[in-house]
Amino acid sequence: MSDIVDQLLARFEENGSEHYGEDVTQLEHALQCAELARQQGGSDALVVAALLHDIGQLIDDAGNMAERHGVDARHEVLGEALLRSHCPQSVTDPIRLHVEAKRYLCAVRPAYEALLSDSSRLSLRLQGGPMDEAEMQAFRALPAFADSVLLRECDDAAKRSDWIVPDLASYRPLLERFCGG
Ligand code: FE
Repeated sequence: MSDIVDQLLARFEENGSEHYGEDVTQLEHALQCAELARQQGGSDALVVAALLHDIGQLIDDAGNMAERHGVDARHEVLGEALLRSHCPQSVTDPIRLHVEAKRYLCAVRPAYEALLSDSSRLSLRLQGGPMDEAEMQAFRALPAFADSVLLRECDDAAKRSDWIVPDLASYRPLLERFCGG
C-alpha cells in the first residue's frame, strides 16, 4: 500500500464534498471526469489524470476562494507539483495543461466559450482569455496536446447532477499502478 495513494484518497474524503461551481461536488466532478475519459477511449493514464485534474483545489482550498476574489491560484500548477514525483508525465502533463486547453478550445471553437459555465468563464478571464495564434501553434506542438484537450472536454462535461458513476475506491488499483512509485 502506498502513502501517496492513501493521501490522494484522503484528500477526496476530507475535501471532496466541497461544491465544484455548480451542481456537483468536487468528488462527483472528479469521478464523472474519469468515467468520461474512459468512455471517450482515453488511456489508463488519462483516466488517472481526469480523476486527479483538480486535486490542486483540494490541497489548497484557498484556490477556489482566490478565484472568487479575482486572483488565479493556478490550481493546475499546484496539482502537478503534488503529483510530479509520484506519477508519470502521461498523468501530470494533461493536468498541468488542462487550463491551457480551455484557452485553446475557446480560440478554435467560437461556440465553445458560450457553453462554459459562469465560473469557467470567470476563471478564463483570470487565466489569460483565449489563446492567440502563436500560443495555439505552440500548444499544438506539445506531446500532451491531444490528451490535454480530451481531458478538458471531459472536465467541461463532468457536471451532471443526476449521474451515478463508479466510486472512488474502484480507482485504487489504477492509482497504485500510476502513482504508487
Ligand atoms: Fe475540473
